[in-house]
Amino acid sequence: MKAYDETLDHIGIVTHQIVSCDFCGAMFPWGQIHRTDDGLYLCSSCLRYLESLSEPIKGSVTEFLIGNVL
Ligand SMILES: [Zn+2]
Repeated sequence: MKAYDETLDHIGIVTHQIVSCDFCGAMFPWGQIHRTDDGLYLCSSCLRYLESLSEPIKGSVTEFLIGNVL
């Protein structure tokens, strides 16, 4: 488990904020959202879903999501 607070200190985000999942759009407390290496914020079930996809599909879904975020 990653220490999110440590990261937050660097980028200056309030620890107890509500974050929306980039995949399903549901709102979660910060501690329940996972930040992927690509910079996406995903809830546990979407993260698990994405992890279950095969690599090429996972890549294009991730790209699609990043395109939406930026
Ligand atoms: Zn989600």
